[in-house]
Amino acid sequence: MTKSRIALLALIAALVAGFFILDLGQYLTLDYIKSQQAQLDGLVAAQPLVIAAAYFLIYVLVTAVSLPGAAIMTLAAGAMFGLWWGLLLVSFASTIGATLAMLVARFVLRDQVSRRFERQINGINKGVEREGAFYLFTLRLVPLFPFFAINLIMGLTKISVPVYFVVSQVGMLAGTLVFVNAGTQLAQVESLAGIISPELLLSFALLGVFPLLGKKLVDIVRARRVLARWDKPKTFDRDVIVIGAGSGGLVAALIVATVKGKVTLIEKHKMGGDCLNTGCVPSKALIRSAKLAADMDRGPALGFRKMKPDFDFADVMDRVQRIIKTIEPHDSVERFEGLGVNVAIGEAKILSPWSVEVNGQVLTTRSIIIATGAAPFVPPIKNIEAVDYLTSDNLWDIREMPGRMIVLGGGPIGTELAQALNRLGSQVTQVEMAPRIMSREDPEISLMVTASLEAEGVKVLVNHTAREVLVEKGEKGEKDEKFLLVATSDGQEKRVAFDQLLVAVGRKANVTGFGLEELGVGITQQGTIEVDDYLRTNYLNIYGVGDVAGPYQFTHTASHMAWFAAVNALFGTFWKFAVDYSVIPWCTFTSPEVARVGISETEAQAQNIAYEVTTFDVAELDRALADEEAHGVVKVITPPGKDTILGVTIVADHAGDLISEYVLAMKYGLGLKKIMGTIHIYPTLAEMNKFAASEWRKKHKPEWALELVGRYHAWRRS
Ligand SMILES: Cc1cc2nc3c(=O)[nH]c(=O)nc-3n(C[C@H](O)[C@H](O)[C@H](O)COP(=O)(O)OP(=O)(O)OC[C@H]3O[C@@H](n4cnc5c(N)ncnc54)[C@H](O)[C@@H]3O)c2cc1C
Repeated sequence: MTKSRIALLALIAALVAGFFILDLGQYLTLDYIKSQQAQLDGLVAAQPLVIAAAYFLIYVLVTAVSLPGAAIMTLAAGAMFGLWWGLLLVSFASTIGATLAMLVARFVLRDQVSRRFERQINGINKGVEREGAFYLFTLRLVPLFPFFAINLIMGLTKISVPVYFVVSQVGMLAGTLVFVNAGTQLAQVESLAGIISPELLLSFALLGVFPLLGKKLVDIVRARRVLARWDKPKTFDRDVIVIGAGSGGLVAALIVATVKGKVTLIEKHKMGGDCLNTGCVPSKALIRSAKLAADMDRGPALGFRKMKPDFDFADVMDRVQRIIKTIEPHDSVERFEGLGVNVAIGEAKILSPWSVEVNGQVLTTRSIIIATGAAPFVPPIKNIEAVDYLTSDNLWDIREMPGRMIVLGGGPIGTELAQALNRLGSQVTQVEMAPRIMSREDPEISLMVTASLEAEGVKVLVNHTAREVLVEKGEKGEKDEKFLLVATSDGQEKRVAFDQLLVAVGRKANVTGFGLEELGVGITQQGTIEVDDYLRTNYLNIYGVGDVAGPYQFTHTASHMAWFAAVNALFGTFWKFAVDYSVIPWCTFTSPEVARVGISETEAQAQNIAYEVTTFDVAELDRALADEEAHGVVKVITPPGKDTILGVTIVADHAGDLISEYVLAMKYGLGLKKIMGTIHIYPTLAEMNKFAASEWRKKHKPEWALELVGRYHAWRRS
């Protein structure tokens, strides 16, 4: 806890202690105020402004520090200043006091509580973002909720100060009016409880929940209106129909079947989707073969004579297919049918919110989960169709290694493939329009990967925008044809010759041709299906998961989303779960691998988050040295002075595996001290996690305590 926080806490503690030690509470009782009414009236008559100002300040202090007595003071306002002046004073003083109390809670507690209960607080924050004003209004109007508790809880959320102020003032107005009015007849007031009758309490409660109910009602009406133009079947063939049997669809269907729902999974192409057939699996198989070739090139570093890998590229690509075939049974029709999923191979077409056509048959369903994935995006480059360019969809069909290859795109897919293809013998030029490749990571991380690629011979052209493809000398298909990519950089034109062009500039969601347009399902500006926190589209029984819905395009996020969509589709009537993106890891499988979880330094800066960076240089790690892989870094982002992990980037061999320790730590709120205090096997790469934690500890060792024990040892020696 920072010094300023400790000082503020100490001040509040002193005020509270003073209040009780001096027994100031005796002046904030009904009897005392009643007994002093004549004196108070005299004071107000003599010095109205001074007394009003003093009253106002004391009221602000009492509410800001959450001392008991605000209700009595409100009564006193009626007695001393009359209804309207009393109302004016109390309304502003209570709102200012409440806002200060909320800000104190935010300043002192929010960071710690948010880190400890990150997931829960994130959920509350989302609710507050959406309808925070409504909730606050309800809480304020229902006098059953203690005001100090509301201030404390709201301080932990991200509600804005102006919203808090205005809603609090309006929300507390009715209650304040009742109390100030009662105060004008102070002599008749017997007890505080008697001021608000049960009927009045109920009216307030109804008034409080009304806006919230109203908003819910508007949401329901809006959702109903979307569905109104469709005929709803009386009964349904299925509980859920899942469209697309990729990473998202397979998991969604499996969850429905596991909890005994009736589900049909529809796939128009290959079971397993992109990950198995054209994405993760083939790319990682290719990367493995390419790594062996690169390791052989590095033979002398490991004590061997120079080795040249002797291979046929077609065999490497056949191996890639063999790996796909080996994994295929995990996602096969037979396996899923065996697990209780009805699988239909054919193109799905959504006919209505409750019916889907496949192979000429119309199936009715209570819910639909769309998991149709994404496809490579091909940018509008002039004349690109003049060459048989490759994408991640058809790269796996080639059997001849192109001599010169251009990989267009500096994202994870382009960078992984550029390195792998170069290692297997192609002369690769990577072209990226941004100032650096892997631009999602911090600049120095991008540079590490660039350096590694360039050291192996990949030509990395950043700040280059591809404009046109030229086919020179002869026509397409003729022997002497020559392909050139025209790119511009700072107004300068550059021509790069190539034999094969691989386009890897991003992926666009598959949202057309299967009924979404006809239904009018909402699409975001990025072209993905628009879903809410529960993964529902504007049709509340139609859900979107995986690449088609974003915001991440990974296999593990697709299956993560699938759980939420499936459970909400089946049980949402009773309880809905908001998808949780708080701890999402990913990895780019270059050599060295780049893995990340949480925020990067660049993101911390962009989001104005106070942070501290701790790094551990992998070059110092014994195991990395033994493996000739002594390069890379562990970079940890923490709040200043705290061991809470906000984000980690690892650049190292096996970074994708190593990051899991930090993923677990972040998910369960464990700090760097816990990682440092955990035994890691020597000599392993995993030790780099512990050493990064130790680096943080070294920076934060308690100097004063060490000084003290140093003196103690000196005294013992003397
Ligand atoms: C080269 C490459 C490497 C990658 N490497 C990784 C990696 O290492 N790690 C990682 O996490 N992610 C990786 N990804 C991303 C990963 O493949 C995707 O995020 C993941 O496949 C998304 O799963 P999904 O279920 O959303 O969609 P998909 O897997 O694309 O599945 C969608 C399915 O829907 C089917 N479909 C579409 N329309 C219809 C219709 N109308 N009727 C019936 N069926 C339909 C399609 O045929 C397809 O099978 C990689 C991607 C690529 C291209």
